[in-house]
Amino acid sequence: MISGRQPSISQSRQSNTRAWTTGARAAADVCVLGGGVIGLCSAYFLAKEGFKVTLFDRSASADGKLHGTAPGSAGLIVPSHVVPMAAPKVMAQGIRWLLNPESPFYIRPRLSWDLAKWLWKFRNNCTDQHVKDSGPILRLLQMESVSLFDQFAKNDGFSFEFEKRGLLNVFIKSFSLEAECSALESRRNLYPSFKVLDREQVREVEPNLSQRVIGGILHTEDAHVQPAKFLSGLADQLQRMGVVILSNTIVHGMETEAGVVPAVATNRGRYLADQWVVAGGSWSSVLVRNLGICLPVEAGKGYSITVPRTHDLPSIPTYLAEAKVATTPFQDSFRFAGTLELAGLDERINQRRVTGILRSAREYLSADGDWDCIAPSVGLRSCSPDGLPIIGRLPNFDNLIVATGHGTVGLSLGPITGKLVSQIASRDDPAVDMGMLRADRFFSICNRS
Ligand SMILES: Cc1cc2nc3c(=O)[nH]c(=O)nc-3n(C[C@H](O)[C@H](O)[C@H](O)COP(=O)(O)OP(=O)(O)OC[C@H]3O[C@@H](n4cnc5c(N)ncnc54)[C@H](O)[C@@H]3O)c2cc1C
Repeated sequence: MISGRQPSISQSRQSNTRAWTTGARAAADVCVLGGGVIGLCSAYFLAKEGFKVTLFDRSASADGKLHGTAPGSAGLIVPSHVVPMAAPKVMAQGIRWLLNPESPFYIRPRLSWDLAKWLWKFRNNCTDQHVKDSGPILRLLQMESVSLFDQFAKNDGFSFEFEKRGLLNVFIKSFSLEAECSALESRRNLYPSFKVLDREQVREVEPNLSQRVIGGILHTEDAHVQPAKFLSGLADQLQRMGVVILSNTIVHGMETEAGVVPAVATNRGRYLADQWVVAGGSWSSVLVRNLGICLPVEAGKGYSITVPRTHDLPSIPTYLAEAKVATTPFQDSFRFAGTLELAGLDERINQRRVTGILRSAREYLSADGDWDCIAPSVGLRSCSPDGLPIIGRLPNFDNLIVATGHGTVGLSLGPITGKLVSQIASRDDPAVDMGMLRADRFFSICNRS
């Protein structure tokens, strides 16, 4: 269906660009830069809108991973998640954890002006008011995304273990359970779908917990998917829809002319498109840097360990609350995921933190497998300084749309982000109020002349 599309930008400026773009290949109406969950979902909804879409990803090149960060994620779809990463007490807790090499949160000290500015903005957003303002938009995005996952499962003919079995948060300290209960009570009008469980009740829901667990909270609306299956199924579906996926294609930079980006340079040559979607996850700021744009996105490194599924492991997704470790049962495996390390674009594995994840697992669960020799997976989450995604056109470059900054919930928000990107590209009214998500809310144009 072609709905609400405006005349293509290239049609109106063809004569201008043709002269200097000699030698470049025409890619598409819209070219998506980055083939993680955000890029793939964007390509899907753009193609559904009738755009001719090409997607570039460096995967299969030396440093590229097929389909980005999400295949190694916990696979949680979380309508319960209505609090942004930037929230009161996060900074104080983070500072307390700095000296613990196995802690779930860490900032690697480094001399970086970008990091200093990001931390300053993040600190300023850690307020009750910001949490209050962000709740409704996060809730709306999450609910829209769940219904889009439903549609993928029903209509698109690929299976990705989509199950709505809830998420069980389990606690080993009574004061943290009490604090979480009172925080949830204060947001009950926004998010009512939770049940508080005592020591016995939590074991009725999930028996495979250690004796240390004193209670839990069941988030009944949450769901999970096998993320690698979702992404490979979606990539196959894109190809059936006619989307061209160019793997092993590294975007080196963008070219500009009269307020638009007519071409990008890649290791395979230069390509033209009418519109561009920057979906490079944690690398998005690198992709737009040569335009003089400072996109405030910091990489939040995390790890997952995928082990064989045994009968003594939980049968529903379980979040080990104080340790901040997610555990997810898949059909034939089981995954532990955790840690958020602000260490720049560095994908090296810090074994101490992997050990910390497994130590927590043994603390909360009754199972104690021989997991230490299993190689972990590492991924970088793109984190914005207010904990909300950054979705929209970049000012000064009318044909450039950015979709990044999803932090810990990029898989969950993938489908709705893709849909919003397609509506922005079509210049339709987006399905949600974009005020708090706009790309220009804190980014600055650097003067690099
Ligand atoms: C351990 C862990 C657990 C997680 N668990 C969950 C969860 O349970 N639920 C949830 O919702 N989220 C979860 N997340 C977060 C989620 O995985 C991310 O938010 C999401 O994958 C981000 O997707 P993205 O498409 O923005 O970025 P990415 O997946 O990082 O994709 C970016 C893509 O851009 C490509 N790229 C970058 N630079 C270039 C270039 N120059 N040229 C070409 N291509 C380029 C990369 O190759 C990559 O494929 C988790 C993350 C981690 C690390």
